Amino acid sequence: LRERRRAAALALVVALLVPGSAVGRPGAPAPGGSVEPAAQRTEMPEPIAYTLRFPEARHNAFEVEATVPTDGRDAVELLMAVWTPGSYLVREFARHVEGLAAATEAGEPLPVEKTRKNRWRVETRGAPRIVVRYRLRARETSVRTNFVDAGFALINGAPTFLTLADGPPRPHDLRVEPPPEWRVVVSALPPHPAPSPKAGEHAFRAADFDALVDSPLYAGNAAVHRFEVGGVPHLLVNEGEGEGEEATWDGPGSAAATERIVREQAKLWGAIPYPRYVFFNLLTGAGGGLEHRDSTVLMTSRWRLRTREGRLDWYGLVSHELFHAWNVKRLRPVELGPFDYEREVHTESLWVAEGVTSYYDDLLVHRAGLSTRKEYLAELSKRIESVETAPGHLVQSLASASFDAWIKFYRKDEDFVNTGADYYRKGAVVAFLLDARIRRATGGGKSLDDALRLAYARYSGERGFRPEDFRATVSEVAGGDLGGWFERHVDSAEPLDYSEALDWLGLRFADPKMEKKEKDEEDEAGKGDDPVGWLGLAAEARDGRLVVTEVKRGTPAWEGGLNVDDEILAVGEHRLPPDGWQKRLAAYRPGERQELLVARRERLARLPVVFGEEPGKRWKLEVAPNATPEQKERLAAWLGSPEELTPRP
Ligand SMILES: [Zn+2]
Repeated sequence: LRERRRAAALALVVALLVPGSAVGRPGAPAPGGSVEPAAQRTEMPEPIAYTLRFPEARHNAFEVEATVPTDGRDAVELLMAVWTPGSYLVREFARHVEGLAAATEAGEPLPVEKTRKNRWRVETRGAPRIVVRYRLRARETSVRTNFVDAGFALINGAPTFLTLADGPPRPHDLRVEPPPEWRVVVSALPPHPAPSPKAGEHAFRAADFDALVDSPLYAGNAAVHRFEVGGVPHLLVNEGEGEGEEATWDGPGSAAATERIVREQAKLWGAIPYPRYVFFNLLTGAGGGLEHRDSTVLMTSRWRLRTREGRLDWYGLVSHELFHAWNVKRLRPVELGPFDYEREVHTESLWVAEGVTSYYDDLLVHRAGLSTRKEYLAELSKRIESVETAPGHLVQSLASASFDAWIKFYRKDEDFVNTGADYYRKGAVVAFLLDARIRRATGGGKSLDDALRLAYARYSGERGFRPEDFRATVSEVAGGDLGGWFERHVDSAEPLDYSEALDWLGLRFADPKMEKKEKDEEDEAGKGDDPVGWLGLAAEARDGRLVVTEVKRGTPAWEGGLNVDDEILAVGEHRLPPDGWQKRLAAYRPGERQELLVARRERLARLPVVFGEEPGKRWKLEVAPNATPEQKERLAAWLGSPEELTPRP
């Protein structure tokens, strides 16, 4: 996000759909490696040069060696990031550093002093370069940390590399010496311009520390699938795909779906901004994704593609992280770059970075023909329901939820549902309402797609956008001031109004009574018309005890004074079985008064409750049966499908 990247971001716009248009892609791997002109090389500050080795891979650790130029100083200070961009929590990566030692290039030991939790000061004794070595523990299977075992390594930048605490931005070189049995080494970094001829070595150059932190590295024996879109190479690196009968993951199928998603996103944005993109897809059984400029790390289960639901979920993840290559990695809130890696960075615009991205992830999967209209509407309905059934969305605004991500969303506790807003889900729902607002205001001429393209053209360079820039850009596309709209939907926690969006698109929320009737008809053991009692609590059986895990505000459980961690023993004089408790509670009727016998800190208490009625599925979107041809046209324009498509498997 510094100087080099500004130039790159402008230059890397590659015309789409023109085969062979990939010429002039700076940063793209040049065949055989290219050497920079001598004049440029002399002006460039000397790089920090890293080597990674894996002699202890089977013990979940690896070794780092850094040769650091001192620029003639008596002492240098090195720092490690305390957080990683895209994941807003201080994670104290320095706690995984073991045995850090420094020496001259000739091997003479140098004094090292720890000056802060994440900083080391090294006396140079006049050496032009110092060599720092340390070992890193790598056993956390997450998209933002390091994992190494006998089979493979996932190395993320923030938890791995030190850099000079001061001095000019400089390149960071990276060499990897994998164990001989690992045949695949992939990074989104460009290859080193002048690699040493050492056998078995893989060499890369990051233009600066930001680029290094933003470029995860994989080493192992993953299956690598390649495809091109608009002449730009894409790699899908499937760790754990397996071979032959062992394969549970459909490698070619996952690559084909990924390619369709890339094409759809490129169509929306109009151009591909990166020279090459890598999807690191690790079948570790963990979940989630983390975005980078030219790559993403995804984690999922090796069985995920075996069900329709799992496939759609994985497509959504791929779509989400790829969308970030535009939205947040380039079109970014002004606060999100250049980064201060040592303290929290606050922005009110995570709802744009994550909410707008969440809105488009499933929508673009659908536009790519990978999900049916019914499936897409079901996903959007789920998001709406999760917002509308969480009381916290009427407490915390999207702007505040964005700003407080570090202490609220990333530190969710049992009360988050009551006091916090989820800027992913609510942000997605608000993006949907905003899209409909623009479409309506322009008579269907413009959409949020247009607003994003305009925002990208204006703010994807060095600048980043302030909240008012984003709002002004959207207003301009909508042809009228949306200031009040944003105040209501983003700055306040007022209830959301869906009527305008639904009316424009010819949609409605299905009648919950009809829904229930249909479900009962499907379900042979249907409950008939008897309304079922409801307390609105979440609980789970732990070691034979039924323990309350969540109490939403305004529910009968809340009114009755139930607390999280209460153990529920009985309703009235009857034991409530920890297994099958929900079925038992369904035997009570709305309006029925009972006492819950609970144990709280080993003392018994009786809490009077009045059963209510479950609010029901009030948030299921469906096409209105009386939708006009005009509404149907608008719906098709929004979903990108003139008629129902047959989804690809
Ligand atoms: Zn995201």
